[in-house]
Amino acid sequence: AAGLLRASDSALHRAKAQPGQACVFFDPAMQQHSPARLQTEQALGRAIRQHEFLLQYQPKFSAGTRRLAGFEALVRWQPPEGPRISPADFIPAAERTGQIRALGRLILTIALEQIARWRRDGLPEVSVAVNASPLQFEDPGFASEVLAMLQQHGVAAEALEIEITETAAVNRMTLVLPQLAQLRQAGVRIALDDFGTGQSSLTMLRRLPIHSMKLDRSMLAPLPDPDALAILRASCVLGQSLRLDVVAEGVETEAQARAAEAQGCTHLQGYHLGRPLDAQAAGALLAASAD
Ligand code: C2E
Ligand code: CA
Ligand code: CA
Repeated sequence: AAGLLRASDSALHRAKAQPGQACVFFDPAMQQHSPARLQTEQALGRAIRQHEFLLQYQPKFSAGTRRLAGFEALVRWQPPEGPRISPADFIPAAERTGQIRALGRLILTIALEQIARWRRDGLPEVSVAVNASPLQFEDPGFASEVLAMLQQHGVAAEALEIEITETAAVNRMTLVLPQLAQLRQAGVRIALDDFGTGQSSLTMLRRLPIHSMKLDRSMLAPLPDPDALAILRASCVLGQSLRLDVVAEGVETEAQARAAEAQGCTHLQGYHLGRPLDAQAAGALLAASAD
């Protein structure tokens, strides 16, 4: 019976990870990774208490001028020994175990401290985007907490951007919508992340109080394929019509950058223009952008 329950639980987790309604049957392959998974889940709690996380900052540039327009904060786990661990490997574990709230709070604290430090150093003001897990919005007090933290760090709301994925926003509309409205009202910028990968509901897009949409790199990768170009163009028109910034993500070549600019993207982000940087290198880039 215990084995049966564990198996159904594995299938359940898999189903929950898929957008919309899903029915998933158990497959033994689902449990092959579980010892490593369990280890990660257990180590995470300690890591959060010991603050073993750092943020890297990936620059985002204005289309056309290619001037620095902001950063996206990306979390890394740096255990005392061993290599840095990618968020793709531990964010899902933090979400499964409910530790994402504590981790999210820690990430936001690190980002706000960094913004305040750059201000104190007299560096130009650009916004820093922080990724929020959909589960953080399950707490109806999340938006209020973010605003309280801004105040506590003496950071202007306009300096912070919250990135939320399309799927999360659409699936949890009743919880997410009022909180996004509260953040936006206070001046925090809102970005819809990974656009083009979820269930793009156009009605939802109209109702969401967002400032920008970030086109997932899977939309840029197939360029210059004509169909991909058509979808890119339509997405840019949609964004423009809704008066949103349109950010092309995962720009890896100059050809992709040009195509994104030609189709009407307002911002570019990706390895071709800048990799995620440690705080010090990001600060240097910020200082150089003032010239
Ligand atoms: P994302 O929000 O879509 O972030 C973009 C990811 O694409 C980052 O990977 C970034 O390093 C990578 N990337 C940027 N430019 C390029 C490019 O030109 N080519 C390619 N192939 N990749 C590029 P990273 O840092 O490993 O983050 C992966 C995902 O983990 C993020 O996807 C986000 O969903 C999640 N994540 C990262 N940091 C946080 C965080 O602080 N909180 C939460 N909740 N999730 C986070
Ligand atoms: Ca993001
Ligand atoms: Ca993204």
